[in-house]
Amino acid sequence: MSHVPQPQHPDFVARHIGPADDDVAAMLKVVGQSSLESLLDQAIPSVIRAGAALGLEAAESEPAVIRELRDKASRNTVLTSMIGLGYYGTHTPAVVRRNILENPAWYTAYTPYQPEISQGRLEALLNFQTVVSDLTGLATAGASLLDESTAVAEAMTLMRRGSKVAKDAVLVLDAQLMPQSIAVTRTRAVPLGIEVVVADLTTVSDAAALRALAGDRDVFGVVVQYPGADGSIRDWRGLADAAHEGGALVTAAADLLALTMLTPPAEWGADIAVGTTQRFGVPMGFGGPHAGYMSVRSGLERTMPGRLVGVSVDADGAPAYRLALQTREQHIRREKATSNICTAQVLLAVMASMYAVWHGPDGLTRIARATHAKAVALADSLHAAGVETTADHFFDTLTAVVPGRADAVVEAAVAHGVNIFRVDADHVSLSVDETTTAEDLHAVASAFGVNIPTLGDGEPNWPTVLRRTGEFLTHPVFHAHRSETSMLRYLRALSDRDYALDRGMIPLGSCTMKLNATTEMESITWPEFANLHPFAPADQTVGIRELISDLEGWLCKITGYDSVSLQPNAGSQGEFAGLLAIHAYHQANGEAHRNICLIPASAHGTNAASAVMAGLKVVVVKTAPTGEVDLEDLKQKLKEHGESLAAIMVTYPSTHGVFEDTITELCSLVHEAGGQVYVDGANLNALVGLAQPGEFGGDVSHLNLHKTFCIPHGGGGPGVGPVAVRAHLAPYLPNHPLSDEAGPATGVGPISAAPFGSASILPISWAYVRLMGGAGLTEATQTAILSANYVAARLREHFPVLYAGENGLVAHECILDLRGITKDTGVTVDDVAKRLIDYGFHAPTMSFPVAGTLMVEPTESEDLHELDRFCEAMIAIRGEIQAVADGAVPVADSVLRHAPHTAVSLTQDWDHPYTRAEAAYPAGVDPLRKYWAPVRRIDGAFGDRNLICSCPSPEAFED
Ligand SMILES: *Cc1c(COP(=O)(O)O)cnc(C)c1O
Repeated sequence: MSHVPQPQHPDFVARHIGPADDDVAAMLKVVGQSSLESLLDQAIPSVIRAGAALGLEAAESEPAVIRELRDKASRNTVLTSMIGLGYYGTHTPAVVRRNILENPAWYTAYTPYQPEISQGRLEALLNFQTVVSDLTGLATAGASLLDESTAVAEAMTLMRRGSKVAKDAVLVLDAQLMPQSIAVTRTRAVPLGIEVVVADLTTVSDAAALRALAGDRDVFGVVVQYPGADGSIRDWRGLADAAHEGGALVTAAADLLALTMLTPPAEWGADIAVGTTQRFGVPMGFGGPHAGYMSVRSGLERTMPGRLVGVSVDADGAPAYRLALQTREQHIRREKATSNICTAQVLLAVMASMYAVWHGPDGLTRIARATHAKAVALADSLHAAGVETTADHFFDTLTAVVPGRADAVVEAAVAHGVNIFRVDADHVSLSVDETTTAEDLHAVASAFGVNIPTLGDGEPNWPTVLRRTGEFLTHPVFHAHRSETSMLRYLRALSDRDYALDRGMIPLGSCTMKLNATTEMESITWPEFANLHPFAPADQTVGIRELISDLEGWLCKITGYDSVSLQPNAGSQGEFAGLLAIHAYHQANGEAHRNICLIPASAHGTNAASAVMAGLKVVVVKTAPTGEVDLEDLKQKLKEHGESLAAIMVTYPSTHGVFEDTITELCSLVHEAGGQVYVDGANLNALVGLAQPGEFGGDVSHLNLHKTFCIPHGGGGPGVGPVAVRAHLAPYLPNHPLSDEAGPATGVGPISAAPFGSASILPISWAYVRLMGGAGLTEATQTAILSANYVAARLREHFPVLYAGENGLVAHECILDLRGITKDTGVTVDDVAKRLIDYGFHAPTMSFPVAGTLMVEPTESEDLHELDRFCEAMIAIRGEIQAVADGAVPVADSVLRHAPHTAVSLTQDWDHPYTRAEAAYPAGVDPLRKYWAPVRRIDGAFGDRNLICSCPSPEAFED
């Protein structure tokens, strides 16, 4: 065997970054710069440039990083988990794991804002909505929320909007709501001035009793867990009637597996159901990510938080899916939005939906009965040995009475390889699940010193009024794919309809659709990371905690901040956490009255929505004609609101894609007025290694690990939105009632269900930093800036670039201004976006931050060939627009307006002023690589008027 020389440095950096060295030289020439250094010197204001290189360890090769991760993994101990509390063992069907979770066609897709190229995941999400709606019995389900606890908090605000009681009405939570949900809801309630009462609601049967519990005030909403955290199944009819009688709404936090056997919440009067879909095939992952769910009765759907998939029709009248009722959402409604949710949990919702497709209603019921049988068997052997349990009726969870012995029993269980939950000194609880084996039952019985349980048939042990009678999941999709062959083909058929990064570039501005490397993804399915319960003891989770603390440290070094919390499971949640920290800081300084949040007009919609959630009032600061924050207007606003100023939220570089050189002055002005500076760090891909928000004036930022740090977008989630702060805000970071190490004791409370949020995907970002090292990360940033400037330089003469810095340079993205073209020709941004599909591209970001524009962010991962392919497509489209401008083609019958063209549309009668070949294979499209849109342009308004949010009958697709 010949000796193979090892490269001097790991080659991952060159694999992550698209353009090779000679490409960089060629691109610099087009941009008109002599070197990368001169480009950066001119693009980035010198006052913010970091003096030193990033002090990170040197990059390692892919095999070496996998070894390091194996080492971390080996320092976790995976015991059998019976901790429960919303997190259960589950068998991810292998066909789902490999073909969804490990399949880039699913995990590298973006949020389906371009529905014509997202029909596959939209169908999967519609299946998800159908599962939730069928099992809860409520008319309309959304396409996922961030986790169960935040879903409870979202239900709180939905109930407040939906009830007509007095302004000072309170929220009442049953004492057996999951403890983390109670805590998250409290965190959310405080800034809104909502009072939360926690009480045992078992016996409440009239409005007066409920009022009395609420300190003789109106109640706007009630939340119960079904079954309760202690395992008890209770009949909530009396409570629901009492709540409705007093004008309150009722939310059930319900377990979907239990609902296959339990009366659906809608049937006993719940208006809203929320929960997690984790145990539908999504590993516990030390807390997440998992899809939370929400469903509502009819009448509440138009104020529901989060995304909702609906059915509409395309230009040929064929049924087609798209996101419905978007006017509720933060990107449209901003401070009036129903919630701040943007990134949700699409990939996990898709997995959960496919678990239901795979098992069907019979399989799900079988799993539920088997689970119940194990719980009953365990209860019987406990009772036989004289150990009492607290609930007569239960599904999968028992609370055992062990006076003074809770610690000893927990310890004995651990010795037998099982984690159970210590409720208090006298009680422990334990939950069984799909994965619990006879040996596990034996082990836990031994820990109690009782006889081995014998399994029964799983017949429900609760009264008939609480047993499900109606059918569910009757739609054919939940019956059609019982064989693995059929399932495999269904998954393939859906992903074939979608455009993800595995097909070509997704140049979405503000979204940073860069490479999600395979090595980065590898470890997330390892059992040592995937099968940890979020409340597992610290001594069993050493490896993952080490990884978390490494990543926190690196993010501090990269951003220049002093502390980081990884708990927020999306950027929006990081914003909320950061603003809570600001408020707590003001409060500690005796300045709790500071309640104004200044937000530039160009800000992302989440900013305004988060500010409102944090109890702040939004005041908009104007944009100067150059695209910068208008400092004169800022001074005016500071004069008006200085005394009440809490913070400014600015994005840097700005959403206009420019490094504003006024940023340091802006920070000083706000600080002088007594306000804090929140730097939205979603655009950190333009800063890593070059500038640090914690150094140039920011007090707090959130980062988006699903943008800059390579966590895939998953078609609209998961995400991780760490919040990073300077030292004075560190005491006010999130913490968690079930984990002392999750944050400071002085913190603002939990903002996610799990102590470390979506912990199981943190190895992705960890691996990215290890594979790149400080130098590699810096080179990535430099290349991202070069690529954006290259695209701007090539397209400028065809489409005006809206904003640029003093030297005509942009940051890591650029805005192409189509407003003049639209005015002159009638060709809209929509036309261009849809025509790009025919050329084989995902559109850039449409009409954000400026209506009538397209924002392009190429990222460092796209190579020069792909950048050129995109530029040439845009130039060719400009030519097609010219034909309209010249009067050669009417816009209404142009190739632009009819785009995208499906194969079906090309094989029908043809009466257009362009040929079929021009429609399907315009300049540069390689017929062998052609992406075919499955539907024509979709009519969104039609779908909103005729709202259908669960699987349509198969007849709808006939003809
Ligand atoms: C993406 C983005 C956000 C929101 O992040 P999510 O993870 O989607 O909640 C906030 N601000 C800006 C500028 C963004 O681009």
